[in-house]
Amino acid sequence: MNLAGKHVLITGGGSGIGADLARGFAEAGAEVVIAGRRMEALEAVAAKTGARAIQADVTDEESVVRLFAEAGPCDIVIANAGAAESAPFTKTSLAQWQAMLGVNLTGTFLTFREGLRQMPGWGRLIAIASIAGLRGHPYVAPYVAAKHGVVGLTRAVALEVAKREITVNAICPGYVATEMTERSVANIRARTGMDAAGALAALTKTSPQNRLIEPPEITSLALWLCSDAARGMNGQALMLAGGDG
Ligand code: NAD
Repeated sequence: MNLAGKHVLITGGGSGIGADLARGFAEAGAEVVIAGRRMEALEAVAAKTGARAIQADVTDEESVVRLFAEAGPCDIVIANAGAAESAPFTKTSLAQWQAMLGVNLTGTFLTFREGLRQMPGWGRLIAIASIAGLRGHPYVAPYVAAKHGVVGLTRAVALEVAKREITVNAICPGYVATEMTERSVANIRARTGMDAAGALAALTKTSPQNRLIEPPEITSLALWLCSDAARGMNGQALMLAGGDG
């Protein structure tokens, strides 16, 4: 994969999947910009990958507009920033609902819209959605609703750009070995009193392969979506979860 001369912007680049995307795209020769709220975390990834770090909050329209103005033209835009909070549905506050829609869905909307407004010609928009964008899960209703929204947004925008050399796709991973999953393990332990191995097993058993997805598996798929071979993949929600169990 040679992405020399291509400019990539990755939101939520300070940790987990975003940090690995920065590594993979930099290794493929692209110029990488990582964006997020926590400058210290971004700088640490930037130091390792050679990426440029820019502070931005994807829920804030002005901040996202400023981000793209500062980054300059980007050919590949990856809306990866996200967050997952859990609560039984009847105990879900409006603030929690709005926070989940804000970062996961509105964040992707703003990142895609500004990304597309400045896209010079050939381009790729990729959302890191979730298997929760394709099916229901208990205790995370706002996250599931937001990620289903991301898949719908992806399908709609893909049709608007289909006649140009631009594709729009969503990657839908199962549980991935990142801090987000570590937080889910900690939540399960706090709620149930399970030990760490038991709490992790409760998550991995949702995968037909009985394991977590590793961030480089997502990076490889994102890189492939940026290849010429993948130019016909448009408006797709690609499940990466060890099987459709
Ligand atoms: P993570 O918590 O390590 O990464 C999320 C990143 O988004 C963090 O760096 C965080 O600071 C950033 N972020 C959060 N709110 C932001 C905001 N308002 N503006 C800018 N940045 C913000 O977790 P991750 O697993 O790397 O998650 C990356 C993406 O993958 C998310 O969209 C998540 O929903 C999705 N995902 C994760 C899993 C999983 O099991 N970890 C599974 C499926 C999908």
